[in-house]
Amino acid sequence: MSSVLGEVIHPDQTCAVPGKKITDSLILIRDAICYVLRRDQGISGVGIPGSVGMTAKCVFYMDDINILCTDLLSVDRTLDRTDWYGRASGARLNRDKTEAQFFGPWADPDLTRLPLTVKLTDIREYFRPGVDAFLLPVGRQVGEAEEGGGQEAQVQGGGKGLPDLYLFLGSRYTALHLTLATSPVNNKSQALARFWLGSYLRTLRLIPVDLRAPVSFLLLPHYVQLQKFLRHFKLEKETVTVLTKHRSLLSLVQDREPVCPVRGLAIGEPTTVWRNVAHPALLNRHRDLSWMVAHEILPVRAVMHSRGMVRTSTCPRPGCGQEESVRHMLWECRAARDLWKEAGPLITSCLPAGEDLTPQLVLYGVGQRPIPSKAFTKLWPTLTCLKEALWSSRNLLVAKNVETTPQAVAMVATEALGWYGRKGASTPGEGSPTTP
Ligand SMILES: [Zn+2]
Repeated sequence: MSSVLGEVIHPDQTCAVPGKKITDSLILIRDAICYVLRRDQGISGVGIPGSVGMTAKCVFYMDDINILCTDLLSVDRTLDRTDWYGRASGARLNRDKTEAQFFGPWADPDLTRLPLTVKLTDIREYFRPGVDAFLLPVGRQVGEAEEGGGQEAQVQGGGKGLPDLYLFLGSRYTALHLTLATSPVNNKSQALARFWLGSYLRTLRLIPVDLRAPVSFLLLPHYVQLQKFLRHFKLEKETVTVLTKHRSLLSLVQDREPVCPVRGLAIGEPTTVWRNVAHPALLNRHRDLSWMVAHEILPVRAVMHSRGMVRTSTCPRPGCGQEESVRHMLWECRAARDLWKEAGPLITSCLPAGEDLTPQLVLYGVGQRPIPSKAFTKLWPTLTCLKEALWSSRNLLVAKNVETTPQAVAMVATEALGWYGRKGASTPGEGSPTTP
């Protein structure tokens, strides 16, 4: 079939032809007729409030065309022009399917003079269904977050940077419309956004009060959503610079996001823990390891046993017999304590004065006092390399039944640490290293 289709189908045919889109011809027809109607001085459109003389004549959505006219003459003229265009292009306006609709007062009370079917509906009913259909899923998300259900799931997921659909869509929508409404009026979209949002933006002091420009005192349903979004995330006090950039909105909200608590740490420290997990000085695989340690989901036996994946939760080190938790494997177990003793000199060289090697420091990078960032950038990779080597030696024991000495484990760690040294020497302070 495909070999002969090219012969059968006219070059202008766009439907069901590979490489062409059905919308191509729609857009072609739409743009051509729109050009004719917009240029026609005989058709008077609807004036846009506050736009200094701009009018709107054509409103498009996909293949739907709406023409806005303010008098009967314009309606006749529009239909003439359309027929005219039809004779030239072979397209035809289906008058039976074309309807007229009144918004506001109409000068001529005799509706029978209109050459179209007239639909008498209230303007509010006219645009409500479409708006509600779009806003419903977003609105439902807000409801959940407010009830706490959504919020809890989010924190459970752990730490920061999880996608939040409501925040993501809402910040884009808000930034787009606030950019339109707060920028100097140059086009119709800006004029309309400023008119409908004007009163609200004046109360937020985002636009100057200009008594010559009209504003609407009622928010449209879709702008009520914008207001709800700003209130929900407590963004109403922010500046124009923040509110008109969706990235600024996102990062502002995400920085405030409550963090997942880490067991055994005082309140206030989790932020430090989660920052250390994704520390820019760490290799990606070391970040992964730190993340699993902080979440206590490194696949040690206690973790695997609680999920029914191993028979026992007991530490695999000979003669240990205790439950193998993440903390046990990295700190409490005999093998771990031997390693931290062995690696003493290596750690002392980068440990700030007065700071001791504590489980909090080893597992999460939290010291008794705040550690200066320069010292921490040396200390944290060192500790992470040692933890990684310890974890590898434990896996070697479980998988191959090979026992390793603390000296050997420390050597493996030093080897891994060498990469940080080379990296640091060649490009000091570089952002995110990747796994070599
Ligand atoms: Zn043990």
